[in-house]
Amino acid sequence: MRIDVVTIFPEYLEPLNVSLVGKARASGLLDVHVHDLRTWAHDRHHTVDDTPYGGGPGMVMMPGPWGEALDQTLADGYEAGARRPALVVPTPSGRPFTQETAAALAEADWLIFCPARYEGIDARVTAEYATRMPVHEVSIGDYVLAGGEAAVLVVTEAVARLLPGVLGNAQSHADDSFAPGAMADLLEGPVFTKPPTWRGQGIPDVLLSGHHGRIARWRRDEAISRTAANRPDLLRRADPAAFNRKDREM
Ligand code: SAM
Repeated sequence: MRIDVVTIFPEYLEPLNVSLVGKARASGLLDVHVHDLRTWAHDRHHTVDDTPYGGGPGMVMMPGPWGEALDQTLADGYEAGARRPALVVPTPSGRPFTQETAAALAEADWLIFCPARYEGIDARVTAEYATRMPVHEVSIGDYVLAGGEAAVLVVTEAVARLLPGVLGNAQSHADDSFAPGAMADLLEGPVFTKPPTWRGQGIPDVLLSGHHGRIARWRRDEAISRTAANRPDLLRRADPAAFNRKDREM
């Protein structure tokens, strides 16, 4: 997968060099390019924002630099052999970014991220590119950040770990909270490792039983309890028939 990020803070994307995403880059599974939007500004202050039409506080990112930056990014990507671009625009007014969104984006060949600052990007930019390619406006939560770069890190990591070959054990995301199938509407329960006793606390006996069916049922029950405590909204929307199915699957 190719990923381009256009930002006024390229250094904010440095974490894309470490850990899982860094390794995916090093092994050639991810091809990441970060661009400084100010490269496409035309005055000596490299201005990329202006006052909002209609008045009000704050500034809005101008369409000019964004248009030039995206045209150049697209031209470079196509020349390098990338195909089927999609724009990802982080914004608190976008659709909620979920595991389902991550799985859908993981099917893409090429994602171009447009993290904004100030009050966001002039709306004509997304309107223009939506005539040529899919545009995903995504929100990573019901709160407002100062800029979209942190959202790019979040989305990239969630997508990258779903790409074939990125996780050592492909099965490991199948048991995660929100994973499609048995975990779709559940949060993962507690996990334990050695030593068997730590500061006076043991681990549930069932985990030492070696009985796969009982362990699976215990995990399912813990997942349901945790979901009921922390995310009752997920349980409310779950289909009871799906719970019976989960019983059989586990
Ligand atoms: N005026 C905007 C609003 O009320 O919807 C908020 C703009 S915010 C200060 C600046 C930028 O940060 C946004 O354009 C977006 O790129 C990013 N951002 C802030 N909160 C976000 C969130 N919850 N999800 C995704 N991106 C976010």
